Amino acid sequence: MASLDLSGKKAIVTGASSGIGAATAHALAAAGVRVAGGARRVERLETEIALELDVTDPESSARFVAEAVEQLGGLDILFNNAGLALGRAPFDESSEEDEARVFGTNVNGLVRMTRLCLPHFADWGHIVNMGSVAGRQAYPGGATYIAAKFAERGFTYALREDLLGRPIRITTVDAGMVLTEFSLVRFKGDAEQAASVYEGIDVMTAEDISDCVMFALTRPWHMNVDEIVVKARNQASGGRILREP
Ligand code: NAP
Repeated sequence: MASLDLSGKKAIVTGASSGIGAATAHALAAAGVRVAGGARRVERLETEIALELDVTDPESSARFVAEAVEQLGGLDILFNNAGLALGRAPFDESSEEDEARVFGTNVNGLVRMTRLCLPHFADWGHIVNMGSVAGRQAYPGGATYIAAKFAERGFTYALREDLLGRPIRITTVDAGMVLTEFSLVRFKGDAEQAASVYEGIDVMTAEDISDCVMFALTRPWHMNVDEIVVKARNQASGGRILREP
């Protein structure tokens, strides 16, 4: 199968300090892509260019994009990956603070980063947004995260319409359960509760998802992979998981 050579391309990866972002940054570098990674925990970034980024902060985001593009000398790929969920409780237990963080990171952050990066794509661009099966089907106890990931998918579809005619491809990768620090963050540092999420299931890894991102990026230029939906074999939907002893 013909696949596109990405060597020499220039990429921004948000949330590159952990999990899917870190795995994708490694895969891109291995394919010869120059990568600028951003995260709040800048000390954990292993990318060629490593810069502090808080996608919820307009100033931090603008500074990051300007510095990353300057150091890269251009931009071809944006992996909008930074994201999080908070809690697994029914919506009546939600708080103003948690809602602001979940929407501020997954929705406003992703939209902001896209707006800031768009002017820098020249004659070749690809935006990959990190979606979720939570953005396709609801499950109990995830209302704000589900709403945020539905918004991400809506934005991806809308962007596809608005970018038609420009040399920029756009993809959403919608994953089921992946073993990363996602659950540790979701349960606010409770390691036992986080570990219970992955009990009895052969869960997907961050590298499984970076493979999907790389698949979309390396398709021939005339193709646009609109969406990729992947789940563990024993996960039928966001809330329905077969756990084996
Ligand atoms: P993770 O290991 O917790 O990584 C999340 C990344 O996002 C970290 O690098 C974190 O960096 C970054 N981040 C969070 N808030 C940020 C902010 N305000 N500004 C900049 N970076 C920020 O979790 P993951 O599973 O790899 O999650 C990556 C993406 O995949 C998220 O969008 C998530 O919703 C999505 N996803 C995950 C799963 C899953 O089951 N794991 C399934 C479907 C989709 P810092 O904390 O250092 O800033």
